[in-house]
Amino acid sequence: MTANLLDYDLEGLAAFCATLGEKRFRATQLFRWIHQKGARDFSQMSDLAKSLRDKLQGHARIEGLPVISRHESADGTIKWLFDVGNGDAVEAVFIPEDDRGTLCVSSQAGCAVGCRFCSTGHQGFSRNLTTGEIVAQLWFAEHFLRAHLGKGGERVISNVVMMGMGEPLQNYGALVPALRVMLDDHGYGLSRRRVTVSTSGVVPMMDRLGDDCPVALAVSLHAPNDELRDKLVPLNRKYPLAELLDACNRYLAHAPRDFITFEYCMLDGVNDQPEHARQLIELVQRHGGRGVSCKLNLIPFNPFPASGLLRSPQQRVQAFAKILSDAGIVTTVRKTRGDDIDAACGQLAGDVKDRTRVGNRIAQQRTVMLKPVAHDATAKETRGS
Ligand code: SF4
Repeated sequence: MTANLLDYDLEGLAAFCATLGEKRFRATQLFRWIHQKGARDFSQMSDLAKSLRDKLQGHARIEGLPVISRHESADGTIKWLFDVGNGDAVEAVFIPEDDRGTLCVSSQAGCAVGCRFCSTGHQGFSRNLTTGEIVAQLWFAEHFLRAHLGKGGERVISNVVMMGMGEPLQNYGALVPALRVMLDDHGYGLSRRRVTVSTSGVVPMMDRLGDDCPVALAVSLHAPNDELRDKLVPLNRKYPLAELLDACNRYLAHAPRDFITFEYCMLDGVNDQPEHARQLIELVQRHGGRGVSCKLNLIPFNPFPASGLLRSPQQRVQAFAKILSDAGIVTTVRKTRGDDIDAACGQLAGDVKDRTRVGNRIAQQRTVMLKPVAHDATAKETRGS
């Protein structure tokens, strides 16, 4: 079996080239051809010696992921479904904005964390993606978009968020080399501030990421107390909020930004009451006596039938945001993008054969875990607006 060169960061590629008796600068040339020019074929690499190209043909390949489908939203969002074999498929989503182009990348086929409000979590877990499978999403999307958006071959993707399918920090060994490919000036040259890893709170791996490859960090918070977070994000039972916030403060010592982004999915009657906002303020401003430097990103929930949950009414989201803002916390409400192609946050489901029965476990717990609190009729009228 030949080596897939998408599996290597530059160090790995240099080591591979050394096994072929080639010097490091050859690895750099090769890396540029693959990631900056999108080459798929060694015969394209005109500045490599013919003898090296012949060697590579026999020992290596550049193999992306087969595209099963592509959907384009009216708002410009593009979602790809990639085949990762064995009946599993993962999704990547491109979100264009005026000043940036963001690619949301998957790290696992399914997810074992099983968050209650997450479509991927309900699918269960199949397997970790390899470095090459993570990188392939960016490699394909960047070069597809360059060819199709007609910007004269300029770079299109300026930001990557590891917020697709999977918990990236539960696939740490594959994630870090993939991040290095994204950051490398000979690769995609993205700044650390523009590459974000989103985690549900795998505390030991947050510490390792801070040491190994500090990029921007987003933490899926979703609840202001352990009792509720245990139900929404099962990993909280292992790493409760106090430990998670301590880890956030340790991470900030390494982070390229001076704040952590806390993601908070707004669930109708579950975590969206004024009392929850006040608890959240107490948590992020008082934890450990000094709080955590953070921004809050409120995410309108994207309902899917199996969740049994509903989106908070827009008025309630705004009221929640105001309580946080009035307390001095920078708070944003995420615009939903790609709703018409199920590409919005939490809707990425791919097609995963659950090999761990996570999906079954969630389905069994679904009806008894959460009891929405009563709220007034006015709020109901604005639901889904
Ligand atoms: S929100 Fe993230 S960690 Fe939770 S189940 Fe979904 S993909 Fe996994």
